Amino acid sequence: MNNNRLRIAIQKSGRLSKDCQDLLKQLGVKLNLREQRLIAHSTNMPIDVLRVRDDDIPGLVMDGVCDLGIVGENVLVESQAERVGSTQNAEVIKLSKLDFGYCRLALAWPQELGPQDKSWFEGKRIATTYPEILKQYLQRENINASTVMLTGSVEVAPRAGLADAICDLVSTGATLEANGLMQGDTILESKACLIQNANLTDTTKLALIEKLMPRLKGVKQAKE
Ligand code: ATP
Ligand code: ZN
Repeated sequence: MNNNRLRIAIQKSGRLSKDCQDLLKQLGVKLNLREQRLIAHSTNMPIDVLRVRDDDIPGLVMDGVCDLGIVGENVLVESQAERVGSTQNAEVIKLSKLDFGYCRLALAWPQELGPQDKSWFEGKRIATTYPEILKQYLQRENINASTVMLTGSVEVAPRAGLADAICDLVSTGATLEANGLMQGDTILESKACLIQNANLTDTTKLALIEKLMPRLKGVKQAKE
């Protein structure tokens, strides 16, 4: 393993993968991504790209296994909240917000109940993939509700009798509607972002990041 190569973690397959691959290409990083490999070595820069589940990206960067990562703020904030109070490092440097992966984490409940205000959530059970972000919101709003952690199919939880309401990622609202749910407060707005390990000191790697950042700025401006 060559430790001098800059390691970047991106989502292997999912909503962020295509945009991440396009961004790297626009930054001039040539990759051979054809094979279903965990690591892709750049052919023109000292860069290795690790393709993993998005949930693993913040931890890989916080622990210094990867130098950089691209991940949704939703996943980043949840991972940081999970690590706070533990002995694990929860710090990263947020280098840039990116122009993709927009979504919001919002509350929703069965449509047949009609519009509800915050007090309705008192004593209710809320299913979510983001229990820490939800708990912070409930605390902030002084609502006593319990959370049910589900890693998938959150939108069917009320119908399945697993929860009274949900707190889930929404972009268009079509999934909520299809599942007979009414959308309430947004508790977090999210975009993909580029993060860096907070303890990175390798001068070669830092110089390469420094070289890539103006290009990233250029790519973002070209999009506007
Ligand atoms: P993985 O297998 O990597 O764990 P996943 O199923 O958790 O994948 P995706 O559904 O691919 O994740 O979503 C990845 C990220 O895309 C989300 O964490 C979020 O930041 C962003 N995103 C943008 N729009 C949406 C949306 N409508 N629903 C869910 N995520 C969205
Ligand atoms: Zn995930």
